[in-house]
Amino acid sequence: NELPADPIQENTRRQVAQACFSYVTPQKTSHPKIIHVSDTMLKELGLSEADITSEEFKNVFTGNEVFPNTQPYAMCYGGHQFGHWAGQLGDGRAINLFETVYQNKNWALQLKGAGETPYSRNADGLAVLRSSIREYLCSEAMYHLGVPTTRALSLALSGDQVLRDVMYDGNPAYEKGAIVCRAAKSFLRFGSYQLFPARGDVKTLKTLVDYTIRNHFSYLGEPSKQTYVAFFKEVAERSLKMVIHWQRVGFVHGVMNTDNMSILGLTIDYGPYGWLEGYDHGWTPNTTDNTHKRYRYGAQPEIVLWNLYQLANALYPLIKEAAPLEAVLENYQEQFPEKYVQMMREKIGLFSSKESDGKLIADLEEVLQKAETDMTIFFRLLATILKEDTVEKAIEKIAKAFYTPSEVVAEIKTSWENWFQNYLERLQSETVSDEERKRKMNAVNPKYVLRNYMAQLAIDDANKNDFSLLNELCTLLKNPYDEQPEYEKWFAKRPEWARNKVGSSMLSCSS
Ligand code: AMP
Ligand code: MG
Ligand code: MG
Repeated sequence: NELPADPIQENTRRQVAQACFSYVTPQKTSHPKIIHVSDTMLKELGLSEADITSEEFKNVFTGNEVFPNTQPYAMCYGGHQFGHWAGQLGDGRAINLFETVYQNKNWALQLKGAGETPYSRNADGLAVLRSSIREYLCSEAMYHLGVPTTRALSLALSGDQVLRDVMYDGNPAYEKGAIVCRAAKSFLRFGSYQLFPARGDVKTLKTLVDYTIRNHFSYLGEPSKQTYVAFFKEVAERSLKMVIHWQRVGFVHGVMNTDNMSILGLTIDYGPYGWLEGYDHGWTPNTTDNTHKRYRYGAQPEIVLWNLYQLANALYPLIKEAAPLEAVLENYQEQFPEKYVQMMREKIGLFSSKESDGKLIADLEEVLQKAETDMTIFFRLLATILKEDTVEKAIEKIAKAFYTPSEVVAEIKTSWENWFQNYLERLQSETVSDEERKRKMNAVNPKYVLRNYMAQLAIDDANKNDFSLLNELCTLLKNPYDEQPEYEKWFAKRPEWARNKVGSSMLSCSS
């Protein structure tokens, strides 16, 4: 919209009206160095190991060189943060490099941490190694877990120092700067749509929605009122699918603001996320959300719904009828409990369905929370139970998942006995063999997830220029459902030193 003669000159911080993006050139860095490349993502783009050794690869994916005939841009979006409308928010530190197609798949490649944009507000547009490792590791881990997600192609050091915190003595604490190249079909978010109607700009809203439908939902047909509703329904269904996956693997996003909700139903923005260790519906890794715990594990499906309400409001000016949008929201509410129970059935190895399964699952969730029980280990060990096992034997088999075994024995043994009695009884009506049940359960219950302290250990080493643990975790997390005897040490409860230290007292939105 009426670009100035030299758009780069105009890239000062400002409110950007009637535009979906702004052209911006990534910042040059002093000593760029690629420290990891995702080989599976590389293949998706039709690139090979040989390509990553070139100067061009390093320079393009650290923002030091603009790929020929492309024009990088930052996207314009707003959003609700912690339930409150926050106006224009981004992209404050993400710059799209270009889009590409390989084997009929579209990819947008985006640098995170490559410098200021018109949307940077009062921040520097940079990212530190700590948060970049967390995003890089987790987004790829989620992909290999089968969770819809944005991907990561590369992780690089910028060679520059970035100021994040000022210590209690007033001294600045510098951290290593880093840049992640993310990849996704699109980085559009709920907040991308919200911003225009909030400014009374229905024209740009329509342009963006029509663009989205034509480019990403073309199977719904040409844009029309009906297509807009169908589009909203698709977004709701994909978002539901995504959050069910989160609940399945124990992923807590931590900052589910509407600007962090992908329009494609992908997990996006790996900031103060965390993984459940002890199974706890009330847990959030985000310290800035410690009072209200708005984004706690158990609330995630409800928050997706809340966010969908905001998207419905944003799309309303194009549809001008509430009923069809409300029907989609009601459908989410009806679908969620069914889909959730179905997912949990698979986690506990029930492949037929009975009316009483909902109660069996709710009872399990209650017992799991009575004493700290490791989610990943519990579900993985549950698969080793045989139909013929006694209640005693069954409890013995999952006991490794309890953080304080003595507590379990003393206080909640009867609850577990009752639950296993019902569970073993229920297993009798399953037709699949013990072996087959175990195989199927192991395909939905990961053995290895990115425990909060694992990422932290990799970060600590990387800050000392040792990337071996980062490499190890990348390899381990590529096959999260497989037995990997050489990595058995990662199939273990969070060590006691890491309690409350990592993941609950250190993570906030600033990174
Ligand atoms: P988040 O809570 O991570 O989604 O952040 C909200 C918005 O703040 C993002 O969309 C970014 O545009 C912006 N932001 C976060 N960190 C920075 C930074 N270091 N520099 C500029 N903008 C940032
Ligand atoms: Mg964000
Ligand atoms: Mg973020």
